[in-house]
Amino acid sequence: MFARAAPQPSQHMSTISDIKERIDIVSVVSEYVQLTKAGKNYKGLCPFHSEKHGSFFVFPDRQSWHCFGACGTGGDAFSFVMKKENVDFKEALTLLAARAGITLERESASSTERSEEKERLLSAVEVAAEFYRTLLLTSDAGSGARDYVTRRRIPLESEAGSAFRVGYSPSGWTTLKELLLGRGYTEQELVDTGLLVQREDGGTYDRFRDRLMFPVFEPSGKVIGFGARALGDLEPKYLNSPQSRIFDKSHVLYGIHRARSAARRKDRIILVEGYTDVLQAHEHGWDNVVAPMGTSLTEHHASALSRITKNIYLALDGDAAGQAAAMKTIRETTGRFRDAFGQRQVEEYGPRGKQTSRSVLDADIRIIILPAGRDPDEILAESPDEWAQLVDHAVPYVDFYVDTLLQSEDTSTARGKRSVIAACEPIISELEDSMDRSRFYSRLGRALKIPERELMAELARIDNRPLRGKNVAGKGPRAPRGRTGSSSIEDYCLCLLLTHPTLRERAANLEREHFETTENRQLFEAWQQDDDADKLRSSLDAPLVEHLDFLLSKPFPPGIPNDEETQQRALDECILRLQERQAKRHQFLMEITLERERQEQGLDAELATLDQRGLASNERLHQIFLQRDRRTRDKRG
Ligand SMILES: [Zn+2]
Repeated sequence: MFARAAPQPSQHMSTISDIKERIDIVSVVSEYVQLTKAGKNYKGLCPFHSEKHGSFFVFPDRQSWHCFGACGTGGDAFSFVMKKENVDFKEALTLLAARAGITLERESASSTERSEEKERLLSAVEVAAEFYRTLLLTSDAGSGARDYVTRRRIPLESEAGSAFRVGYSPSGWTTLKELLLGRGYTEQELVDTGLLVQREDGGTYDRFRDRLMFPVFEPSGKVIGFGARALGDLEPKYLNSPQSRIFDKSHVLYGIHRARSAARRKDRIILVEGYTDVLQAHEHGWDNVVAPMGTSLTEHHASALSRITKNIYLALDGDAAGQAAAMKTIRETTGRFRDAFGQRQVEEYGPRGKQTSRSVLDADIRIIILPAGRDPDEILAESPDEWAQLVDHAVPYVDFYVDTLLQSEDTSTARGKRSVIAACEPIISELEDSMDRSRFYSRLGRALKIPERELMAELARIDNRPLRGKNVAGKGPRAPRGRTGSSSIEDYCLCLLLTHPTLRERAANLEREHFETTENRQLFEAWQQDDDADKLRSSLDAPLVEHLDFLLSKPFPPGIPNDEETQQRALDECILRLQERQAKRHQFLMEITLERERQEQGLDAELATLDQRGLASNERLHQIFLQRDRRTRDKRG
């Protein structure tokens, strides 16, 4: 039915998940219902049925709501607005988009026009890149630049060199301008690309003169701008294309056009600082290396990378490792990644069968510590093996924090120990992942020879605030992420169904309730009604079409299997996991209800029925575990 799309040029989030990221269900619901805090959740009088005691709950962790009273239903922010405003999904989307400050793109003549204009700008930049390249490779004017390239061992005509297309911009003030005007581009277009600079009197001239030119590519491989290094004494030494309609350095990563698929394949991405570091890495087979464009890593970068791999390596100059400024940058960078990956709530069954939940960071962030004063490009060019070893010895970022702290003080004295502990406090409060925290405590405890328990007590004393669930000062509560954007298992399941019509029969026991997110539920319902790909697509509103395309092009780590038997197994596994999740959700709601009844000294009879229902959902979970266990054994056998 649907064909899997090739990965999109840039993996931007779909509008729907973008909206979900930006709104908080508590504030959405608060506009209609007066909520009061109940533990970590909120409760109030149900807006959908008449009642005297609040049985309507909002769960910020799950970004969901539920009425335990007459309604007995719940959902996410979209379903709440749909029900409350009595509107369909599309209208709810419009309302929430406005709230999130997102403009819904509509297919229109003007957007087609806009993209045609953009194509022209891109083609002008491409002509410039080719011109610079030819000059460097063949012209007399480029001979100085060629010497520099040889001296610095910058790859030029190797496979990597050809992919990065380094070039040379001539020293004249209007050489490129005349070439491009001759090709039919207007002066204004060339100013818009950033290739020309406009003076106050309106005149224009070439921005890049007598520089080594590093074309910057978007993931699809199109040139969108340049990084340029002065060859003479020209200031500034490094000059980038300015912010424009085609170039936004807060989104761009140098080398991503080659690194994206490589990083996916190798399941690891490495961040360095300079263009030549990236080039040299690719030259030596490290094609999963990228660099931000002379800025620190932005949230856009982190978010794009988080969709490629969970294993992030940051190269850091050994000189800088002890310096406060570098530490700050590293902490900001790891913080961006932690935000991008989100904290996953994991529910576990404790020793007495009690369910507990803890926060887990779904990524491995490591620091590659370089020998002092040496850049990656030098190391790679001189001894590639050394680079490989440095990557192998990259340390988890938490260990890096602890080690840096320990190096800064004399820990043999009580005074030194105390100041290390004091310096820990802001770092600990950044670590929301309970695993990271315990790793931090145990490493620090071992180094300082202080039992972990005492260490935590000491930190609590310094801080004088509870350790858990605290946010970085001044930041305010962080919106729960990760959970809200999308659900991988739902996405994967839908993608299987949409791309393989033969699976329809096998999905007979899949129900709309298995999908928690409204957009997936909508797609599932549309799929149930229409077998035909074109009809299905035309029955959907624009944002849902976008969500559909997003799903079809989304990379799923295990991939969509090719043969029918494996597809069937994958679908069975999906359904099982969705059922399991539903049963767990019921159990979670059950426990909240029981707790509520206990607090309000509810009737014994009511408790009894609730207990019964609780047993039923326990039984269901048990069944699922048995089923899964059998399947695992079947697979082995
Ligand atoms: Zn209700």
